[in-house]
Amino acid sequence: MAGKYPALLLYMLKVHSIETFGTHEGPGIRLVVFVQGCNFRCLYCHNPDSQDITGEAREMTSEEIIELLNRQKEYFKNKGGLTVSGGEPTLQVRGMIDLFQKVKEAGFNTVLDTNGSIVSSKVSELYALTDLVLLDVKHINPDLHKKITGHSNESVLHNAKLREESGKPMWLRYVLVPGYSNQEEYLYIWCEHFKNYKQVEIDITRPTPTERNV
Ligand code: SF4
Repeated sequence: MAGKYPALLLYMLKVHSIETFGTHEGPGIRLVVFVQGCNFRCLYCHNPDSQDITGEAREMTSEEIIELLNRQKEYFKNKGGLTVSGGEPTLQVRGMIDLFQKVKEAGFNTVLDTNGSIVSSKVSELYALTDLVLLDVKHINPDLHKKITGHSNESVLHNAKLREESGKPMWLRYVLVPGYSNQEEYLYIWCEHFKNYKQVEIDITRPTPTERNV
């Protein structure tokens, strides 16, 4: 692949859209970059246009994103910084590693909003460069997780465990959808599963009216 494409292209991110003053994707005021392409097909996707990896996207270098960070850095204070969300950022792991390395060198903090589905040494490398992981655990039951997303939750739970063992912070996120993820018995099992985790904050939300199919 490296012989077929210019090396720079391997490190460019396919970007769906950018929010300059995000307040929900991590602490403080943040530049939020939504990447294009996701391997899940959640029934209540907040950003369905970003699912198709071949969909319309802007190719951006790490340097271009750092330039955007520099333009708004006075608003970050000591909490804000860069969040990459999606889509699913770990589908573009090489570009993400390049970006987070350079963003940290430039003095900004990094947040990764991920569905946790990809387990690999490169993804572990990316997590190590991430100050805060926002991990969606959409259901604790593998079959019901598959019903909601199209995939089992096995990799998601494995990534949550790896992050906990790393001793670095994570927000576990859960979208409470009537009829899909609000079953009392499974909410109890979900809490039991994570009750000894020390690095986590729990963030429970409801789908917004714009999220489809639910
Ligand atoms: S993981 Fe996120 S971007 Fe992907 S389908 Fe689910 S809600 Fe949409």
